[in-house]
Amino acid sequence: MTSAVLDPQEHRDLRAAVAALGARYGRDYFTSAVRDGRHTDELWAEAGKAGYLGVNLPEEYGGGGGGIAELAIVLEELGAAGSPLLMLVVSPAICGTVIARFGTGEQKRRWLPGLADGTRKMAFGITEPDAGSNSHRITTTARRDGGDWVLTGRKVFISGVDIADATLVVGRTEDARTGKLKPCLFIVPRDAEGFQRTQIPMELHAPEKQFELVLDDVRLPADALVGDEDAGLLQLFAGLNPERIMTAAFALGLGRQAVAQAVEYARTRQVWKGGPIGVHQAVAHPLAQAHIELELARLMTQKAAALYDAGGADELAAAAGEAANMAKYAAAEAAAKAVDQAVHTLGGNGLSTEYGLAQMLTASRVARIAPVSREMILNYVSHQTLGLPKSY
Ligand SMILES: Cc1cc2nc3c(=O)[nH]c(=O)nc-3n(C[C@H](O)[C@H](O)[C@H](O)COP(=O)(O)OP(=O)(O)OC[C@H]3O[C@@H](n4cnc5c(N)ncnc54)[C@H](O)[C@@H]3O)c2cc1C
Repeated sequence: MTSAVLDPQEHRDLRAAVAALGARYGRDYFTSAVRDGRHTDELWAEAGKAGYLGVNLPEEYGGGGGGIAELAIVLEELGAAGSPLLMLVVSPAICGTVIARFGTGEQKRRWLPGLADGTRKMAFGITEPDAGSNSHRITTTARRDGGDWVLTGRKVFISGVDIADATLVVGRTEDARTGKLKPCLFIVPRDAEGFQRTQIPMELHAPEKQFELVLDDVRLPADALVGDEDAGLLQLFAGLNPERIMTAAFALGLGRQAVAQAVEYARTRQVWKGGPIGVHQAVAHPLAQAHIELELARLMTQKAAALYDAGGADELAAAAGEAANMAKYAAAEAAAKAVDQAVHTLGGNGLSTEYGLAQMLTASRVARIAPVSREMILNYVSHQTLGLPKSY
């Protein structure tokens, strides 16, 4: 699927190397890990050693010195091979980016080398039960108490809190001038007193679990705050665009894996005299369509990553935000359609445990909902791109 013209040689090399690693693990490894209640630790460790997990982080802290474009390649290729690593979306992409860009020297030294080689992980918590898509309504509050911060609030659907050394929690502090609450980011260690987690039962076939969190007067030292108390929104967005691009990469990998499986089946399954079921255009065309839509979504993902990695001027940042939203939308829709079609192509086997496609149905819906739903992206494009009025 790669184009020699659009992809620089180093991206093609990275893709090939990660695909080879992914192929050594594959879907069976992933499926058996989930079945046995294990995590995909061996793959995570090997990918970390090879430098793939921190490919976007600064070289001086053990990273690869690349950008989100490279990290998205890693996630997409592992997903296409059947073993996606969901924590890449949060640990190096959101948390690593935010700390690398806005953390203090001490925070960078403490966290980045571990996030880069995968020996440490960080989860990310913004969603709240009573705020959901409207993150302006979050109420997790941080107040100063002497030199400390004290956090109170609730979060929901936070991925991987059990396996993360800490969670980057989005809270609010009170503006001393206006009294208004403004967003701020705090590193909350997994074992902090008052930081409770409860696993949410989910119909997802994945090693990474989701948690409801209660922050009950969690006392943190002053240096738990990442970056500047007055520039929280800017810092938050620095992490949210990579999250959208990485979610797009997650969806692309999943969609590619489903189409590849369906194509293989359509090529070999024979029930009529005239050849395998793939000779029928009613079987072949929807798969061709799914392939095209994944390719288009990937192009948008590459554009979004290139704009984000270029950084700099406000205009470029706005373009990166728009492209990241569009890429996430396009990839999620393409993946949902691809998985649906793949399941159908296998007939009864599409729903069998042996072929493992049915379990991808729920996974393929995640990207439509998280980290920002399809409708919220359509709202964003309606308002920001098309200039249409807001209904809320
Ligand atoms: C598997 C999984 C992993 C996740 N991991 C994390 C994580 O690690 N960290 C984290 O912080 N969060 C995480 N989330 C949460 C995720 O980001 C939220 O589920 C998502 O933002 C949607 O919020 P909600 O579920 O509260 O839906 P709601 O906001 O209640 O929305 C429900 C429905 O209403 C629609 N809707 C809402 N408002 C509007 C509107 N104005 N116009 C049109 N339609 C609207 C939505 O599109 C959606 O279809 C995860 C979720 C899942 C499913």
